[in-house]
Amino acid sequence: MAASKREFGVYTVMHLRDGIFEPSSDVVIHARGDAARQAVLDRLGPQLHLEVNCFLLRGPDGVALIDAGTGDHWGAALGQARAALKAAGVAPEQVARVLLTHLHGDHALGLLEGDAAWLPRAEILVPEADLRFFTDPAAREALPEAKRGAFGITERVLRAYEGRVRPIPNGPVAAFPGIEAIPLPGHTPGHTGYLLRGGTQDLLIWGDALHLFTEQAADPETGLAYDIDPALAIRTRQDMLARAAREGWMVAGAHVPGFGVLEAAGSGYRVLPA
Ligand SMILES: [Zn+2]
Repeated sequence: MAASKREFGVYTVMHLRDGIFEPSSDVVIHARGDAARQAVLDRLGPQLHLEVNCFLLRGPDGVALIDAGTGDHWGAALGQARAALKAAGVAPEQVARVLLTHLHGDHALGLLEGDAAWLPRAEILVPEADLRFFTDPAAREALPEAKRGAFGITERVLRAYEGRVRPIPNGPVAAFPGIEAIPLPGHTPGHTGYLLRGGTQDLLIWGDALHLFTEQAADPETGLAYDIDPALAIRTRQDMLARAAREGWMVAGAHVPGFGVLEAAGSGYRVLPA
């Protein structure tokens, strides 16, 4: 699963590697209970090794990003997407748009330099259900403290990019011919994947629908505590994996390495390098 540059329709897509996030395996959850969870932990060990990626898109309307990494907000092991962007020959002022998959910190904090806009000209396109949820004080109150981080991030992004944040509905994304916003709710209410129609080969960038490529493809009932609605996240994973396998989509995500394709295997799916 080499993280390379690839063409999909009118777009060139490149991984921008932000770094590695290594939380304790305590964040693993499982819908079938403790024994199933323990079996996952036995395979994975005490610590998870999650990639953090965002994506550079070059297309007919200029340069765009899908997600923005952590910026300088999550410490020195992360935040390398900015250098990767520079190495690809792109200056911050050249980024015309950012498509966010959702409003969590490892996807949206990279938009901020302190509390200012890191991308001086970019328009920020946010799935409308996520923007609605993370600006709703009642929704914030209803969640445990550990799941409230994105509310403050949303406030800061809206302030830094005043007048340049646009909610986007599901379906074709205006200004991105051939890209479709696919609702993948559960991780957050408006969590969204982007499907790039490529003619011969389509690519689904699924955000955080899976964090553990092999493990969650094989068993979509494995989750991480970061999912706001774990039961809905499971249904979304199951439906999305089935559709991706059926349609032959290439897949990539914010926390999985490279590009893969999926093949049905037992009750789940196997990831094949693309
Ligand atoms: Zn994430």
